[in-house]
Amino acid sequence: MDLFEYQARDLFESYGVPVLQGIIADTPEEAAAAAAKIGGTVVVKAQVKAGGRGKAGGVKLAHTPEEAATAAEAILQLTIKGLKVKRVMVAQGAAIDKEYYFSVLLDRSNRTFLYLCSVEGGMEIEQLAEERPDALAKIAVDALRGIDLAKATEIALAGGFDAEIAAKVAPVFVKLYEVFVKEDATLVEVNPLILSKSGEIIALDGKVSLDDNAEFRHERAEMERDELDPLEAKAKESDLNYVKLDGEVGIIGNGAGLVMSTLDVVAYAGERHGGVKPANFLDIGGGASAEVMAAGLDVILGDPQVKSVFVNVFGGITACDAVANGIVGALAKLGSAATKPLVVRLDGNNVLEGRKILADANHPLVTVVDTMDEAADKAAELANK
Ligand code: GDP
Ligand code: MN
Repeated sequence: MDLFEYQARDLFESYGVPVLQGIIADTPEEAAAAAAKIGGTVVVKAQVKAGGRGKAGGVKLAHTPEEAATAAEAILQLTIKGLKVKRVMVAQGAAIDKEYYFSVLLDRSNRTFLYLCSVEGGMEIEQLAEERPDALAKIAVDALRGIDLAKATEIALAGGFDAEIAAKVAPVFVKLYEVFVKEDATLVEVNPLILSKSGEIIALDGKVSLDDNAEFRHERAEMERDELDPLEAKAKESDLNYVKLDGEVGIIGNGAGLVMSTLDVVAYAGERHGGVKPANFLDIGGGASAEVMAAGLDVILGDPQVKSVFVNVFGGITACDAVANGIVGALAKLGSAATKPLVVRLDGNNVLEGRKILADANHPLVTVVDTMDEAADKAAELANK
């Protein structure tokens, strides 16, 4: 999960990383009140999970509460990199002397943590890496050893800081590393980390990605999340592995690999049938009980774009007869909510029993097809009607 800037700011603060005061606002009035509370010059910043907000007009200085309200009003109407701005953060303004870049991340391919640091911050890191690669220090950090002040100083020097500033930023680097490790982050980025005119080091913008696999180790229930697509939210409630796509053929399968190849065969078949495409990815996993099948069908049938559904199951530990019972049970459970044609392809363990169960049920919406290619073709044909 990626955090919003204000969440990163709060996290930094709790670890003693120097940040400026920041207050969240949902309306221009709230922004004015926040500016009055902070006093002096403030910065109104769009809260979207994307970089480059400054360039997109999502970061504005305001000298009075009225200016803050005007800035918030403009920013709250923006869409930045496809993301609608719903809130702003009103932050205390900084008098900037220098802008630096700092990040620590999980480098999966090299199985280490990696520090990136540069005395030339402010611009986006991709641009810095391309235009001034020599100015960007990349230092691998052994995950088991971590960093201390000496290592942090070494990193700062490699990033082009002079000795005096290196001594100032090193303790901040150590604290940011602590955030990274203790919060189970995969990325902690500060851009810009600034030297203020009065000589202080301050984290002015923070980007933090947390490792979802480690969520059970943390209490973060209170953290605001991005709104999921309503169908994805529904799937999540039932613990289904669902991704909404843009096509017309709903897809249910067991096993991520099988579902991926089902997307491919449906996309190919669609080329013969008016260009229809897969409507989703949905892996119901190994134990396809009637409840799981019903939950999956319920999500897919709730997608108004779906015209037909392709159920592609390879029976394994949960054999085809159990899956077939699941499908029949799911359709009974859904009753009149099931309105779109289903093409079912079963193979694997107890396939004959499974097909017999479906044949006996003789449900008007269900067509059983023996092979994956033929089933994909049938599903695409039905979706194109
Ligand atoms: P980003 O564009 O999404 O990365 O947003 P940032 O928070 O990094 O802000 C972009 C730029 O706005 C920074 O690099 C600064 O140059 C400028 N900026 C942000 N906050 C302040 C501030 O408090 N005072 C001043 N003078 N400039 C700021
Ligand atoms: Mn930034």
